[in-house]
Amino acid sequence: MEYLTLNNGKKIPMLGFGVYQVSKEEAKRCVKDAIKVGYRHIDTAQSYFNEEEVGEAILECINEGIVKREDLFITTKVWIDNYGYDKCYNSVKKSLEKLKLDYLDLILLHQPFSDYYGAYKALEKLYEEGYVKSIGVSNFYPSRLADICSFERKIIPQVNQIEINPLNQQKYAKEINDRFNVALEAWAPFGEGRENMFSNPTLKEIGDKYNKSVAQVILRWLTMRGIVALAKTTHIERMKENFDIFDFTLDNEDLKKIEELDKFESLFFKHDSVEAVDLFMNFVYQRRGK
Ligand code: NAP
Repeated sequence: MEYLTLNNGKKIPMLGFGVYQVSKEEAKRCVKDAIKVGYRHIDTAQSYFNEEEVGEAILECINEGIVKREDLFITTKVWIDNYGYDKCYNSVKKSLEKLKLDYLDLILLHQPFSDYYGAYKALEKLYEEGYVKSIGVSNFYPSRLADICSFERKIIPQVNQIEINPLNQQKYAKEINDRFNVALEAWAPFGEGRENMFSNPTLKEIGDKYNKSVAQVILRWLTMRGIVALAKTTHIERMKENFDIFDFTLDNEDLKKIEELDKFESLFFKHDSVEAVDLFMNFVYQRRGK
């Protein structure tokens, strides 16, 4: 496993196991499988509704001697309904309870909407108190990141988690995050398979050179850019495949070919489009309904 050093000196594993859209029924088994395969970095969120099951898996792995708590890197995210200082503070304590942990390695504000200033101040307090070892944000595209880094904060975020994949490479966002020394994490590194990502001919051709799959090429490309990659799968064979990426290096020709795949656009929505707002509001209402 390779590690990245965050702006507060803490180390984060470059590859994480994500549990978005992993059901409550599957989450415990998946996280246990992932830890047994070798993953040490788990990424969940309040809005994934599986923190309890993730916590059960972690506890069982620790109790069974498979892993030590200090070797794990656990992230969760605060959903917007829990923004504002008090609500955010209390919700993180609740997440800790659900995850059965004394501390989180990383806590993120999930979206740049609603009272994220108040919420961010609560994260700073939790950081000072030792409940969270690092703090950060997610989906803070350049102007929002510049905003949170510039005003009324004591701590520069350690991490920003955004959509990054070969068709949406986020070069500009990377430049801005680098300027503030905020580490980037890539969500949906495979674009959830959209645009036939797993059979992309360029990525396939590159993979064939090294006897690696498209998924492995993507994860290696991200980690070589200094971006933490979060991959989700419910299949143990794919967990193993996605984990097996640190024994090859892409050359300049490969990197150039991948660079040419960039469409400079989200695979999920166009920012600030009617479609994006509708999608977002539907998601908000759906989460509230649970
Ligand atoms: P993703 O990792 O890009 O794609 C997951 C999909 O790829 C699943 O359908 C999975 O199928 C398939 N897959 C995985 N490995 C494969 C392989 N080796 N070969 C073929 N198919 C493979 O999408 P994501 O889950 O949206 O993103 C990853 C993580 O990022 C999430 O789990 C979450 O932790 C985080 N995330 C964060 C945000 C945010 O707003 N902050 C948003 C989205 C995601 P199977 O499961 O059927 O194997």
